[in-house]
Amino acid sequence: MSQVYDVIVIGVGGMGSATCYQLAKRGQRVLGLERFDIPHSMGSSHGDTRMLRLAYFEGQAYVPLVLRAHQLWQEIGKLAGEHLLHMTGTLDISGPDEEDIIGKAEQACRTYDLPYELLDSEAIMARYPGFKLEAKHKGLFQPDGGFVASEKAILAHTALAIDAGAEIRPRERVLGWEPTGSGGVKVTTERGTYEAGSLVLSTGPWIGEFAPGVIPFTQPYRQVFGWFRPRSPDLFKMGSFPSFTLKIDEGHYYGFPLWNNPGLKIGGPHHGREKCDPETLIRENRPSDEEGLRVCLSRYIPEALGTALSVRVCIYTMTPDEDFIIDRMPGMPQVVVASPCSGHGFKFASVFGEVLADLAMDRTPAFNLEPFALSRFASHG
Ligand SMILES: Cc1cc2nc3c(=O)[nH]c(=O)nc-3n(C[C@H](O)[C@H](O)[C@H](O)COP(=O)(O)OP(=O)(O)OC[C@H]3O[C@@H](n4cnc5c(N)ncnc54)[C@H](O)[C@@H]3O)c2cc1C
Repeated sequence: MSQVYDVIVIGVGGMGSATCYQLAKRGQRVLGLERFDIPHSMGSSHGDTRMLRLAYFEGQAYVPLVLRAHQLWQEIGKLAGEHLLHMTGTLDISGPDEEDIIGKAEQACRTYDLPYELLDSEAIMARYPGFKLEAKHKGLFQPDGGFVASEKAILAHTALAIDAGAEIRPRERVLGWEPTGSGGVKVTTERGTYEAGSLVLSTGPWIGEFAPGVIPFTQPYRQVFGWFRPRSPDLFKMGSFPSFTLKIDEGHYYGFPLWNNPGLKIGGPHHGREKCDPETLIRENRPSDEEGLRVCLSRYIPEALGTALSVRVCIYTMTPDEDFIIDRMPGMPQVVVASPCSGHGFKFASVFGEVLADLAMDRTPAFNLEPFALSRFASHG
């Protein structure tokens, strides 16, 4: 006989942990199933930090979501007794750029009345001597952004979910699921079967395994980041250096001030295109991985170019338009698809917990989810 729940969440990572919490808080009987430990380093959420920018150049539809996420990270941090959102300020830097990310970031700030400053390269280097830029570079500084402590956030959401009554089962791999005749779902794991009224699929880079319909629109990519011990650590301390994105000739990079590690964390090139399968991914770093990070540091942040303390591999899962997929499964309204987030989703996990809980409970979320609908790919066939 299967155990019965209101909602089953497959994947207790960034999105799944938040969803379990929001559902349990609303009194739902919720089961969260996670294949690995909570947290772990096999998916998309490890590596200490994820940037939270309010000056959202990826699209203005994201700004109301990120504003709510910003508020929730602080509330959840307080409830969990953890400092989850660190408001270091964010600095987006670019040279002349076809995509005009600085212009788009500025537009987002103006539309939503967010404070910001436009800085030329001299002004950036005067304020943050860690950067060595060229005259063509300019930047937009937004003071309220920063980073979320990603693994701590997953743990915080998971602990709060358990405290609110959720049943969370780490190290229990889901093998498959099927709809039931009564309009619910049956989920089979290595250890048993469970039934629920609805299902949330938040399996990150493994989304195609559980929602084959999204396979044509989702592609996992291998990504690399590392921590380098700066030659002048004081330049990169919290309070002296921002969280940043850096769009340069060599690619689109990002990084953070020193936090939780004596090394400066840098990642990129942001949209590096090495396709992968999460099951067969080369997780060890290669010399070219470190070299790709050093190229950026040596030219633009030279005082941070010291020993690479660690270089690690992670997975982006991209859609063709780089927007998210947050939707009900076509023809199966009891199944909610909550991935992937095209390399910029973690900051939204707190608010997507609310949104996904709404969808699983057949409520209407407070946000416009049209940009994330599966139907936008209909013409792709
Ligand atoms: C290098 C890198 C840098 C990034 N930088 C940023 C950033 O600065 N800001 C930002 O907002 N976003 C960023 N992102 C994107 C963000 O991290 C992701 O959008 C987010 O982590 C995705 O969360 P998720 O819950 O979908 O995936 P995950 O956290 O990976 O969770 C999926 C979970 O499903 C589980 N699972 C899979 N299969 C099964 C199964 N069969 N049974 C049970 N469980 C299963 C997995 O084990 C995993 O725990 C970055 C991503 C990467 C890789």
